Amino acid sequence: MQLEPTTAGGRRFVEIAEAHIEAFRARAAEHDRAGSFPSENFDDLRKSGAVGAFVPEDLGGLGLESVQDWSTGIERIARGDPSTAIALNMHLAVSRNVAQSLRGAQARGDAEAIARGEGMLGAVASGQLLICATATEPGTDFLRPNTTATPTADGWSISGRKIFVTMSPVANLYALNVRAPDPEGGPDRMGFAFVPVGTPGVVPQDDWDALGMRASGSQSIVLEDCRVPTGSVQLVGTWGEWNPGVLMGRTLGNVSLIGAFLGIAERARELAVAGARKTTKPKYDGAIAGASGVQHLLGEIDIALAAARASLRDATAAIDTLLAHNPEPDLETAHGCMRDYQCAKWTVNQNAIGIVSRAMDVCGGGAFMSGHELSRLYRDVRAGPFMQPFSPTEAREYVGRIALGLPPKG
Ligand SMILES: Cc1cc2nc3c(=O)[nH]c(=O)nc-3n(C[C@H](O)[C@H](O)[C@H](O)COP(=O)(O)OP(=O)(O)OC[C@H]3O[C@@H](n4cnc5c(N)ncnc54)[C@H](O)[C@@H]3O)c2cc1C
Repeated sequence: MQLEPTTAGGRRFVEIAEAHIEAFRARAAEHDRAGSFPSENFDDLRKSGAVGAFVPEDLGGLGLESVQDWSTGIERIARGDPSTAIALNMHLAVSRNVAQSLRGAQARGDAEAIARGEGMLGAVASGQLLICATATEPGTDFLRPNTTATPTADGWSISGRKIFVTMSPVANLYALNVRAPDPEGGPDRMGFAFVPVGTPGVVPQDDWDALGMRASGSQSIVLEDCRVPTGSVQLVGTWGEWNPGVLMGRTLGNVSLIGAFLGIAERARELAVAGARKTTKPKYDGAIAGASGVQHLLGEIDIALAAARASLRDATAAIDTLLAHNPEPDLETAHGCMRDYQCAKWTVNQNAIGIVSRAMDVCGGGAFMSGHELSRLYRDVRAGPFMQPFSPTEAREYVGRIALGLPPKG
């Protein structure tokens, strides 16, 4: 059974996502070939309200809160265009954080933070604010950003280079992690910064030219002495060290991305079934669906799909349950949550790659042609394992260290 939404906000989001599939698919091949960003898809996502999924209903949004339903909506969008699915996911990851901070501010009665959060979320719901999330830098990792935030008389100066900045061609705000000095002279701190697109010193590199996800706009961004006001940088912990908040944020910001790769697998299966019914060969007296080799491949696809769906459903349902009962878990629980996410990510990605490959076998040589949707999906699905956290070279070590009770490496 395909993933289905479990909450009212989730149903609204998934219904909207499903309504976008056909139009996004119709545009996908052209943008893939050109390596261009499908801005029209984001016009549609603004109009439909999908960009405001995490905004509370009273601020004009869809009121989505469930991580499981978020990943289900991303899965549906990916059936139309995987590049748009990962691009939307980045924006939703940051806006979900803003909505969570607003709930915290409301609980504390912090009027200033409430006004800031409501202002941002109102702009998100109306489609005026699109936010991309960038952590990746050449030669380092998430916990050890080399992009610096240096205090100035009236705020901060941000300098560095970020790569793989998905959705940046249409975003108007970058959310990024930075290294900052500790105000009390201790070890350097990790911080999160908001930098408006167009801030003097921000230089988008227009260099995205990749094997797959070619319409995701994941260009590099250079920041040279970008000046932002005091409230634009939030210090969240010691540079190079996990703490529960940063670790949960890393899990919550990325787990739904797995949905995009499940969506690719779902679409590949649809194409395989259609191809098996449509393609005829004399030796089978009609459609190749009558061939046992094709039937076995489709059986393998469905078995792999069942494992992938179950794994993502289980991990995201567990996160929803955890957040409902223990929204601020300790470090050990947060590592357990990251471990579950890593297990689901591995299971979905490995199965999705195999499913697309088998779907190509079913559809035959035609699927190898550049114009065939499966050949694009074959390239797009290969992006999944690279998505941090963690890469294939790191993920199993992380899970294994947790199993052994050893401190995980960042
Ligand atoms: C399709 C796609 C979308 C992504 N979107 C985001 C995102 O929105 N935000 C985010 O923070 N991360 C994003 N990532 C990055 C991802 O999470 C990983 O961090 C990234 O794949 C590198 O991880 P790695 O550990 O394998 O690094 P490594 O492969 O060890 O490091 C990346 C290396 O790539 C080399 N490189 C050279 N030129 C470039 C270039 N122009 N672009 C990229 N790399 C270059 C550099 O040498 C660099 O050290 C995206 C990745 C992909 C494939």
